[in-house]
Amino acid sequence: MLNILVIGNGQCGNRILDSINRHAMGGGKNCNKFAKFYSKQKFKSHVETLAFNTAVNDLKEMRFTKAKDRIHIPHLHGVGANRNVGKQVFEENKEMIMRQIEERGNFDVVFVLTSASGGTGSSFTPLLVREMKNRYDYPVYCVVVLPFREEGTLYLQNTAFSIRDIRQSGVDGIILADNQYLKNIGGNIEEAYNGINDMVAERLLFLLDALDSEMMMVTDLGDFKTVMSGGAGLATIGFFRADKDMPVKTTIQNSLSPSGLLFSTNVYDEASRAMVVIKGDRKYLSIDEISAEVEKLSGAVGHVFKGIVVREGEYPQVLSLLTLESAHELEKLYNVAVQAIHYEKAKKQRVEEGAEMKKTFAQIEGMEPEY
Ligand code: GDP
Repeated sequence: MLNILVIGNGQCGNRILDSINRHAMGGGKNCNKFAKFYSKQKFKSHVETLAFNTAVNDLKEMRFTKAKDRIHIPHLHGVGANRNVGKQVFEENKEMIMRQIEERGNFDVVFVLTSASGGTGSSFTPLLVREMKNRYDYPVYCVVVLPFREEGTLYLQNTAFSIRDIRQSGVDGIILADNQYLKNIGGNIEEAYNGINDMVAERLLFLLDALDSEMMMVTDLGDFKTVMSGGAGLATIGFFRADKDMPVKTTIQNSLSPSGLLFSTNVYDEASRAMVVIKGDRKYLSIDEISAEVEKLSGAVGHVFKGIVVREGEYPQVLSLLTLESAHELEKLYNVAVQAIHYEKAKKQRVEEGAEMKKTFAQIEGMEPEY
């Protein structure tokens, strides 16, 4: 049995964590808020969850995460997307935060969920990972959500710097999910967020389950670590659940296709190592089809670990974890972020010089009101 800790930082991290707790309690869409009182989790691993936030309202919004797991770090009303403030707040509260983690016990693996672009999650996460890596032996992986590209210059620049900071924190790997790429999920913004959060939650729980299952063909934490250590330290996850008796070959292909992935990449061009886990009733799991698909993938990317979990009566489901050698989409995002940084810098300079405002007030220089 694996001991797993999942931490959600900031609003986005908190919400994905809450979705994980909803699913882990066996809750589908209809799961009610009392689910949090059921002590028994659906999963074999022992999973602890912790949410950190400076904004108390974000924590109050969580419906499936126990009150004792929601930790408010006081700082008025959040850090306002300012990562310098966020970093300072983390440092001031570091011992309290680390004590919360310490009290939860020892772990085999830790996942930290955050957006790259906000204030709290994006500044807490690299510092928290560094602190955990200094104090403990366990591997720490981050799941990082990229912003919608139209959310503005501050979010774009935060993204560029926070991903760099997370990479330099000693993290064992980063799994990317991209709001922009997933936004065609549709509906209003709230529905899109919920849809994306559920996608991430479902994939992570599938992964945790796969690392701790008695499989017909085994993948374990060691394989996961090997996959995550390949490539450029960045990864993403693909997934597909057949809702009918689809051939396993097609299910695998769908998990690797754009609609199955959390981040835009051509896996055959950009992936560096992979793990493919297939679940379902024995009658759907044709070894020939599985071998042919895995061979196709390993021909393009190198090594592919495969796992098979037999679940009687279930249609095939496939999860693919892919580390990336290159990430064209991230490169594009950094291009836009550099423009955003230049834009903010030029604006700041103009404001500091006060040229525009000086002109405005200069108009009444030497004048007095006339009545
Ligand atoms: P923080 O609380 O200061 O860490 O900031 P947020 O987590 O709200 O970061 C803002 C970014 O997160 C923006 O790019 C939002 O689009 C994104 N975001 C906020 N809430 C959610 C959510 O529930 N789901 C997803 N997928 N993205 C979110």
